[in-house]
Amino acid sequence: MNDSTGELKFAADRMLGRLARWLRVLGLDVIYGPHLTGYGLIRAARQEQRLILTRDRRLKQKQPPEFILIESDHYPEQLRQVIQECGLVVGAALFTRCLECNAVLQPRGKESVEPLVPPYVFAIQEHFFWCPKCRRVYWPATHHQRMLEELRKLDIPQPGN
Ligand SMILES: [Zn+2]
Repeated sequence: MNDSTGELKFAADRMLGRLARWLRVLGLDVIYGPHLTGYGLIRAARQEQRLILTRDRRLKQKQPPEFILIESDHYPEQLRQVIQECGLVVGAALFTRCLECNAVLQPRGKESVEPLVPPYVFAIQEHFFWCPKCRRVYWPATHHQRMLEELRKLDIPQPGN
C-alpha cells in the first residue's frame, strides 16, 4: 500500500487526460474526469486537498486553492513540468495504481486470474495485480518494461540504470 502522509495528490482538469494517465503510471493519486472543470475542479481539489493541474488561464480568477498552470499542449512537456515543479521521484511507485480509475492495485493469486487474462499472458507471467474498483487485471512485469521504455522516449529522468 502507498499511504505515506503528506503525499501529493492531484486534480487534473479535463484537458489533461494524457497527463493524468501518465501520473497514474508513476503511481500518483490523480482525479480526472469530464466534471472536473472550473468550479467543479476547484470544489473537488478543496474537498480532498489536491493540487490542481490546469490549462485554464482564467481559473485563477475563481480563487482556486494551490494550482500549477500547465504551459504546454503536449503531454511529454506537461509531465516534465509537473515532475520538475513538484520534485517527483520517478520509479518507486511505478505501476501501483489503476490507470483507468486511480484506485491502488492489489496483488492477486495466479490461479484466480486464469479466466481473466489472455492464455499467453497466463502462461508466461507469475505475478498479477488487480484493481478492486474496475476489476481490471494488470501484470506489472510487462507493463513496467513498456512504461519505462515510454518514459525514456519521453526523456523523463529515471533513477538508476
Ligand atoms: Zn480500475
